[in-house]
This record gives sequence, structure tokens and C-alpha cells, in this order.
Amino acid sequence: MNTQARGGAIVTGAARGIGREIAAGLVADGFGVIIADVDQTAGEATAAALTAEGGGEAVFVRVDVTDRASVKAAVEACRARFGSLRVMINNAGFNKPEPFLEITEKTWHGILEVNALGVLIGIQEAGKAMIADGIKGKIINTASIAGRTGFADFAAYSVSKAAVISLTQAGARALAPKGITVNAFAPGVVATPLWEQLDKDLYAMGASAAPGEAMNSLASQILLGRVADPKDVVGTVKFLWSEQSDYMTGQVLLIDGGMVLQ
Ligand code: NAD
Repeated sequence: MNTQARGGAIVTGAARGIGREIAAGLVADGFGVIIADVDQTAGEATAAALTAEGGGEAVFVRVDVTDRASVKAAVEACRARFGSLRVMINNAGFNKPEPFLEITEKTWHGILEVNALGVLIGIQEAGKAMIADGIKGKIINTASIAGRTGFADFAAYSVSKAAVISLTQAGARALAPKGITVNAFAPGVVATPLWEQLDKDLYAMGASAAPGEAMNSLASQILLGRVADPKDVVGTVKFLWSEQSDYMTGQVLLIDGGMVLQ
């Protein structure tokens, strides 16, 4: 498929995990996709693998979402290579658990910088490019169930994801007059390298009795009885980038197997 015709998309944090699966869905849909990640080795390998799968094309651009200049450069690369930026997925994020009473300023600032400021910068730079090109684009942010309910051992992360929900609402209000929609999806527990690390960290800090136990205990609270595979979230995100969701903006869709009901 001609990626110029379908247009361009950027997925931050797409070298692996949820972002990689979303990027694979966009490539399969014929988009030209910028794999925007701090991890150059994994990002280049992902771009090559997704391009080989066919459909559109994936290209790696090194991006740190907290660095506005690098986000702008990715937006410019997308416009230059694929003619436009139609879909922006602000997905990069991380977690570092700490007991509530011991959360440090370093953890707070580190998590808020990537997970919240990174999303603000992504919405801003994508929004400016879409407005300049007259594109009624789709901006989609990765929130989390932790943005809907606070977790004691992930308080800074929970705040950062509540911030993603607020930025989705504020961005939707700001960009609606230009025909640009801003929505979010909120996964529950997804089996990715992020969760492998989280499980190890929770065990190391004594919050779980054995490796794997933290994830198993959360899984027992999921109505559908299992944690998610990254592929489980792609259908909903695809809906959000498609014209099927044109009349939706400022919304957050939970994809958590029925873990948080609100
Ligand atoms: P992951 O750790 O597997 O992948 C995250 C990717 O983001 C990595 O490739 C990493 O290099 C990249 N990244 C990290 N910091 C970056 C930065 N400053 N700039 C650019 N790239 C950066 O994680 P994942 O599980 O795929 O998580 C993706 C998103 O989904 C995150 O926002 C996460 O908070 C959210 N989420 C994950 C889960 C889960 O259970 N895995 C649940 C809810 C929400």
C-alpha cells in the first residue's frame, strides 16, 4: 500500500510491549509509522520487523518524549517521509514501585516527567503539525487503570496516569475547534517487559511473597480471569484511530478484562 496515501503515524515507546503491537496494527492498516523510542537497538529491530510484515512501513527515530526538540524532529520526519501526521499515539511510560510512605522526590519527578509531561509535549507537537497541515487527526494517549484508582505502591505512577486522563480531556477541548480528536485507552495488567520488571521490583521490596505472585494476585481480580497480551488492546486503539470514532473526543476506554468497574 502507498504510505503517502494512508499518511503517517507516530507511536512513542514503540520499540517493544504495547507500543510495538499498536505500531504493528498501524503498519498492517497501511500507515507509515515512526517508531519513536529511546531504545535505538530495539527500535531499529522493531521497525525492520514490522516493515517486513507488509502493509505500510515503519521507520525508527530516536525520541525521548521529555525532550521537545526530539519529539519535534520525529514529527518533521513523519511529515517528510509520509506526507503528513494523521495519528499520534502517546504511549511511552514506565513505573517504579515504592511503598507509599517512602516515595522519593526523584521517583516522583522521573515518573511525572515521562508519563505526564511527555504526553503533554506529544499532544502539543502533534496538534501544531496537524493544524498547520489542516489535518483532522487523531491523538491517542495510553492511560491506565491506575489513573482511575490509586495503587499504594505506585502512587506517583497513578498520579501520572490521572494526569494523562486530564490531559486527554483538556487537549480534546483545545483541539476540537480544529477537528482534531484526543482520546485515551486504559489497559489493566498487560504481560510486557514493564510488568516483568514491576513484578521483580515488588518482590524485591517485599510487597509480594514470590516472583510472579504480584501479577497472579492482580490477575485474580480480573473478571475475564487472565492478564492481557499486548494484542488484546490493539482492537480498541484501532477503533480510536479509525473513522468509526470520529464523533468521540476526550474519552478514556478501559481495556482491563473487567478489573476496575466505574
Ligand atoms: P514497556 O516497558 O514494555 O515499553 C515501554 C517502551 O517505552 C520501551 O520501549 C521504552 O524504551 C520506551 N520509553 C521509556 N521511556 C521513554 C522515553 N522517555 N521516551 C521514549 N520512549 C521511552 O511498557 P508497556 O507495558 O508496553 O507500556 C506502554 C504504556 O502502557 C506505558 O505508558 C504504560 O504505563 C502503559 N500501561 C502498561 C500496562 C501494563 O500492564 N504493561 C498497564 C497499563 C498501562
